Amino acid sequence: MRNNVAYYLLSHMSMPYDIIRKLILLFVLIALVGLVYSFWGVITGATAWFHVVLWFLVVVGAIFGYVIVFAKGIVIRRRETLAQMTCPSCGSVYGMEAALQARHDYMERWKEAHRHHQNPKDLEPYWHVRCPKCRKETRFQKDTYELEKLWPNT
Ligand SMILES: [Zn+2]
Repeated sequence: MRNNVAYYLLSHMSMPYDIIRKLILLFVLIALVGLVYSFWGVITGATAWFHVVLWFLVVVGAIFGYVIVFAKGIVIRRRETLAQMTCPSCGSVYGMEAALQARHDYMERWKEAHRHHQNPKDLEPYWHVRCPKCRKETRFQKDTYELEKLWPNT
């Protein structure tokens, strides 16, 4: 069961992620205040330009960190949402392993498109999720969180 560790981590990580995200947002705000303060220091002659540059870098770094954590949070929420959804064919819950597999397959298709010099942005925004019980495949619209059927033989 290679996904057990990942499953454990993901099912326990959504809360810390929210907290980390808020902490980084707070850090961005503090850095902005520092930037304005150091800028004011330059105007009044109390500090050197060097401080402004330093604070500017801190602000950029903090915003960068926030964007990364925010994007990670979206992926985690997507996985959790899909894991809790039920198969439209047999009604059983997909579970985290099926959700992780669906995300993994999507990333593979993404890399494949990249390898063939297609724009990965043109890739359909679907994760193909396979029901662990009845093996039927369904498309999960990753932005609207909707399931749609994908069975040509039924
Ligand atoms: Zn099913």
